[in-house]
Amino acid sequence: MNSEQLWQSVIGELELSISKANFTTWFKDTHIIHAHGDTVTIGVPNSFTEAWLQKKYKDDILQTIKKKTNNTITQIIFKVDTNKNIQPIEIGEEVKSDTQEDVEQPQQQKKSAPPPLTSMHPVKSGYSGLKPVFSNTQNNSGDNTIKSSFNLNPKYIFDNFIVGKGNELAYAACKAVVDNPGSMYNPLFIYGGVGLGKTHLVQAAGNAILEQNPDLKILYITTEKFTNDYIQAVKNGQMEKFRSNYRSVDILLVDDIQFMSGKDQTQEEFFHTFNALYQNNKQIIITSDRPPMAIPSLERRLVSRFASGMIADISQPDLETRVAILEHKVHEKNLNVPKNILQYLADQIQTNIRELEGALNKIVAMHQLNDTTPDMETAKRVVSSLTATMYQGSLTAKQIISAVANYYGITVQELVSLSRKKDLVIPRQIAMYIVRTELNSSFPTIGDELGGRDHTTAMHACTKIGDLVKKDEKIKHDVETIITQIHQQRAS
Ligand code: ADP
Ligand code: MG
Repeated sequence: MNSEQLWQSVIGELELSISKANFTTWFKDTHIIHAHGDTVTIGVPNSFTEAWLQKKYKDDILQTIKKKTNNTITQIIFKVDTNKNIQPIEIGEEVKSDTQEDVEQPQQQKKSAPPPLTSMHPVKSGYSGLKPVFSNTQNNSGDNTIKSSFNLNPKYIFDNFIVGKGNELAYAACKAVVDNPGSMYNPLFIYGGVGLGKTHLVQAAGNAILEQNPDLKILYITTEKFTNDYIQAVKNGQMEKFRSNYRSVDILLVDDIQFMSGKDQTQEEFFHTFNALYQNNKQIIITSDRPPMAIPSLERRLVSRFASGMIADISQPDLETRVAILEHKVHEKNLNVPKNILQYLADQIQTNIRELEGALNKIVAMHQLNDTTPDMETAKRVVSSLTATMYQGSLTAKQIISAVANYYGITVQELVSLSRKKDLVIPRQIAMYIVRTELNSSFPTIGDELGGRDHTTAMHACTKIGDLVKKDEKIKHDVETIITQIHQQRAS
């Protein structure tokens, strides 16, 4: 086995157990540099990836490598290495090399130990590629040119953002961008469900960049506002002004890009805005409720631009994080709410942090009226009054499967059956693809959901439909329509 084969089989196995965004972000551009004795050195594209792999995936990688090499390799070292033309080496031969290598290892390991993530502080020279184009003092407001730090809300900062398993990737990516705007990850694309902290995070990034360099011109904008501005500019013949406004910023934060779906003219204009900024090393951060590929009716060239930097997902917070968020709010506002009430709320409201906060505020308000301490009875009342539409729970594979079956006029039983009839195979593969893109499920889970199939079947289906969506207009249309229907149904 050579090093490339080994590495491909290791990451192939890891791919099964982690989300696609995580996989692409951390394992893209990695390779084995060399193997000495029982140690393998893994090349990674930058120190951020190095620190992250070290912290999060080292154990998993090591376990998998040990398994694949029958415990011949027992140590791994990460090293920044941007050389793309690595020649595969024979692992077996290298492994058998002399014992002198073993003696050298501890030292080698020490040298390449990456910085802990928490110590990745702002690099003062990080702005090299990004000169302010605008100074606050020169801004004479009154006209509608964009002011520095336009639309940033000072209440959204990193300090009041609780980091947990579901959002640590997005958080770390934002921090990295703050330290090196325009050069580290551009664009940064953050996606995740409603009320999970996307707006908070991008605003926090904007605020942090501004704090480090008050002269930078930072624009936060919702996709809706961009669209409206564009329409107004067209209507009033002010395209030039529109363009110079949007193209003169240093940092562009665009929230909820999924709303650009189907708006061809706006997309066209945004494409040019994006390119103009990107070419000048201006940082762009985009949020969405789903990954670029899964946004219906979004131009291919935009999808590929969005996917070209870094994609980070935010998934639902675990119980511990939900409790921590509530505790933080209580502390911040100096509220008096018993711990068991916080625990109860966190336990009951699982999918949306905005709802969680809303429930807490409501309980507090109800008790402020008569100056009493919130009790369990009120908490239960508030939770049960959250209407069914407000709190539907999250999208499931079952809902996706039934939407696909419905679209093709077949039954769910047929869709998950063993039959290999052509008019069942494609819908089945499409269902697998949508479960992957919408829910980020692992391949074994997808296989299970679709009638207990093997994970390789799920992998094959996702790759195949992923390709077809790019080439086949009919498949593309079907997939987009089904996804739209699923979301419309949930919103109604
Ligand atoms: P989204 O943009 O993803 O819909 P928001 O950023 O608006 O979600 O977050 C909803 C609310 O939840 C906001 O008040 C935000 O401050 C809060 N929130 C979300 N995630 C966190 C977190 N990890 N820690 C603290 N507050 C959070
Ligand atoms: Mg938002």
